[in-house]
Amino acid sequence: MSPDAAGLLRRAVADGWAVGLFAHVNPDSDTLGSALALGLALRAAGVDAVVSFDAEPFGVPDGLAFLPGQDLLVAPADLAGPLDLVVSLDAAAPHMLGALAERMLAAPRTLVIDHHRSNAEFGQVRLVDPDAPSTSTVVLTLLDRLGLPLDAAVATALYAGLATDTGSFRQATAGVAAHRAAARLVEAGADPTVIGWSVWGIHRFGYLGLLAGVLGRARLSDPADAAGHRLAWTSISQADLGACGLRLEHVEGVVDVLWGVLEADLAAVAKELPDGGWTVSLRSRGSIDVGALAAKLGGGGHREKAGFLADPAGVGSSAGVGGPAGVDEAVRHIIAGILEQVGLQ
Ligand code: MN
Repeated sequence: MSPDAAGLLRRAVADGWAVGLFAHVNPDSDTLGSALALGLALRAAGVDAVVSFDAEPFGVPDGLAFLPGQDLLVAPADLAGPLDLVVSLDAAAPHMLGALAERMLAAPRTLVIDHHRSNAEFGQVRLVDPDAPSTSTVVLTLLDRLGLPLDAAVATALYAGLATDTGSFRQATAGVAAHRAAARLVEAGADPTVIGWSVWGIHRFGYLGLLAGVLGRARLSDPADAAGHRLAWTSISQADLGACGLRLEHVEGVVDVLWGVLEADLAAVAKELPDGGWTVSLRSRGSIDVGALAAKLGGGGHREKAGFLADPAGVGSSAGVGGPAGVDEAVRHIIAGILEQVGLQ
């Protein structure tokens, strides 16, 4: 019988394995909080645990600097020595690990911990619970099974993932299980006020200027364009970011403003990447499964929160065709693609 996740980690503790815990690219607090929490708990149990994710240059986004356990972090280039076990956290498919996917596939033992319904069949041992509100609650269950204690640092990292993936307890994922888990984590020392502000509310002053611009040009689609559904959307170009001294990691919250538009049941924000490609964030208040929608466009996610990478090749971007006209054309193409998919559903 193949070992289960708890059995594998018990062996890691008993035999002193070197364990790599990998978060996905563009880490959020569920993937990184889950990896850091498991890393802290395993290290306290005597395991040689490191946490990594693919980013160039390597560094934790500003908004995740509050997560505890950051001394566990190692850049992919500095992952020396063999790893006895690699654990992927909150990655729905190997490519979500970026360059670390290869490192995972080369490891003698692999474990996948996730809650994406769309999780691809990868990893030798799999702990995937599509009904879990966050990967961090899957980790919480695993720590219970291992008999590893929750301290304030572990609880903080897990609560951050839970708060993020439930949209601060607004989404359908925020049921009884999510609130029970939250209560346990708060009891163990997680501070909902500090974490809530860290995850959802703190931004640079320059962000206000950026919001004024990108929200000022937000649009609402015609219901006739997408089978009665309405999409609120806007875009953020590299020029917008540069004008306000911000990077993409600082503008994750823009889509959350569009998410609450009364007249719309869908929201999208197209963000230009430094290389001229685009990343698109999608949100739904439940009537449309944006995870399924994103999957059709080459991405993935959950029912209410998802995203995909768009490469409107040939239609231009500020890096390609050059200038605002190229950006407008790329965004128009991306939004038309989304509306077409919604209309087909
Ligand atoms: Mn997650």
